[in-house]
Amino acid sequence: MEKHEFQAQARQVLDLMINSVYSNPDIFIRELISNASDAIDKRRIEALENGKTPEEGRITLVINKEAKTLSFIDNGIGMDKDDLVAFLGTIANSGTKEFAKAMSEAKGDAKTAENLIGQFGVGFYSAFIAAEEVVVETKKEGCPAYIWTSRGDGDYEIDETSREMIGSTITLHLKDKKGEGKDYLDKWDVRSIIKEYSDFVTYPIFLEAEGEKKDEKEEPKPVNSMQAIWKRPAKEVKDEEYKEFYHHLCHDWDEPLDWLHYKAEGSNEFSALLYIPKHPPMDLFYPDSKHGIDLFIKRVFIMKDCKDLIPSYLRFVKGVVDSEDLPLNVSREILQQDTRTAAIKKSVVKKILDRLSKLQKKEAEKYAEFWRTFGMVLKEGLMQDSSNQESILKLCVFETSKGEKTSIEDYVLHMEPGQEKIYYLASTAGDAVINSPKLESFKKRNLTVLLLKDPIDEIWVHNVPKFDKYDFVSVSSEEAEKEAGEEVKDEGQYKDFTDEIKKSLGNLVEEVKISHRLVDSPVCFTQKGEEISPQMRNLFKSMGQPVPEEKRVLEVNPANPLIKKMMEDKDSIADYSTVLYALAQAADGESIKDASDFTAKLTALLTK
Ligand code: ADP
Repeated sequence: MEKHEFQAQARQVLDLMINSVYSNPDIFIRELISNASDAIDKRRIEALENGKTPEEGRITLVINKEAKTLSFIDNGIGMDKDDLVAFLGTIANSGTKEFAKAMSEAKGDAKTAENLIGQFGVGFYSAFIAAEEVVVETKKEGCPAYIWTSRGDGDYEIDETSREMIGSTITLHLKDKKGEGKDYLDKWDVRSIIKEYSDFVTYPIFLEAEGEKKDEKEEPKPVNSMQAIWKRPAKEVKDEEYKEFYHHLCHDWDEPLDWLHYKAEGSNEFSALLYIPKHPPMDLFYPDSKHGIDLFIKRVFIMKDCKDLIPSYLRFVKGVVDSEDLPLNVSREILQQDTRTAAIKKSVVKKILDRLSKLQKKEAEKYAEFWRTFGMVLKEGLMQDSSNQESILKLCVFETSKGEKTSIEDYVLHMEPGQEKIYYLASTAGDAVINSPKLESFKKRNLTVLLLKDPIDEIWVHNVPKFDKYDFVSVSSEEAEKEAGEEVKDEGQYKDFTDEIKKSLGNLVEEVKISHRLVDSPVCFTQKGEEISPQMRNLFKSMGQPVPEEKRVLEVNPANPLIKKMMEDKDSIADYSTVLYALAQAADGESIKDASDFTAKLTALLTK
């Protein structure tokens, strides 16, 4: 016998399971059935990949009143010793760190903790809601059988055992029933829980009570109807059923934000049931994130997380596609090449984008929640999917220089008379961007500017030249400056002055010039030629891509009192130049390069 300790985070979760009062303790039955169903899926996939005929999957729950146990038996994939340690002794999730953090933030709040647990896929531990001890007997093909035992307090034991059947038996030694609530040793109570939460599980779930007389002649009947919810007409499925199926599918204990269910007829027939979750999964931005749609063919489960059915910019969508036409022995390679797969993907994308558009127009609050959670991901589609670029652009929510939020359609609708461009300011300066000097002439002319604050914005905006007939134009571009066109009287008179500044700044800037766009502020940076921010430059460089040389222009505003002062104080022009440069950096949200030099010079000027 070997003793092992639970990983620290796993222990935290266990403590929570054991000590919290759950609003709905019955869900552990659903979790364990879900795991059994997943294990059968995995064994099926393995058999299919090896060209074997998979065994019929089945799940059996056995109540033993005398021993006070409830067992979950499946003929799924089973676990070997390493699996037991990796799957049941740790939280095998790449987001473990985030999880621990979120958990400590959730503190005593049971509801939040429940949601978190669902999101992180620690469903097995829910057994400890009802059990004082859990015993897992399991066998994987070609491996010895093992028995895993734990009381959920710090450690667990693993031992070899004798067992021929491939699959797992999870036995819960139940805590004494307290007060109200369902009795997990009562057949009717357990049956009603299975019906309520696991009716649509695609494998039959049998319920037996130890010591009960069995009629040998009668075929046992499964408790669940096994009705594939996605195959039923949408009109007949109740919201509650959709939500339950979502729990089963996604192991998320919270409700989905929204779902859509449809059937495509014709030469490529399929049903799809797709969900948009409320929370992002922890691996949403990991390069190897698990995502995709579960593929069924004629109601037979074929593949989990099939990435060929959904593009990565919709990777938050979960669900099921059930095809009538794809061949049952489909492999990943075949799937990738089959034109029907591409057609399903195209249809799924269109339906989801349409659905989001409807939400945006009819359920603003829900849409705002969606956008906060997944907007960043959806925006990736602006680069990835040129055929849907316009629909995606219409779904984007933009902050504006007037402190409002707008869609691109509303922006165009409310343009000022004569306005012919869509103006934007891409900056990673965060909320401070609304005070950027570059917006001054636009504010003065009452023109609205879109504030693009995500790093990704800067990338797509280079890829999306226009919306409707309007070009996207950066407020710091030369083009925008020409339009801003504040007349500067006798520009020539400032030439010596700007030359002086250029001389003291040297190679830091390409050019120093009199600004036509600044109204109040003394200085700002703009770009000569194509505009690429320092952040983007670093990104491109790190990807080994060539980046055009940076040509920064320092614009100064002769109407600003500081600049006026500077022109009078010719001896200190070098010090002033350093300060101006730092001010322009600060306005762009950059950190000041040579801070000590800046401080010294500023101090000298202030002292004067
Ligand atoms: P999740 O199912 O969300 O991954 P769980 O904590 O419920 O998280 O389960 C952890 C892992 O333990 C599963 O991913 C699976 O690999 C394994 N496991 C759980 N139950 C079984 C079972 N009945 N048969 C085989 N493997 C199982």
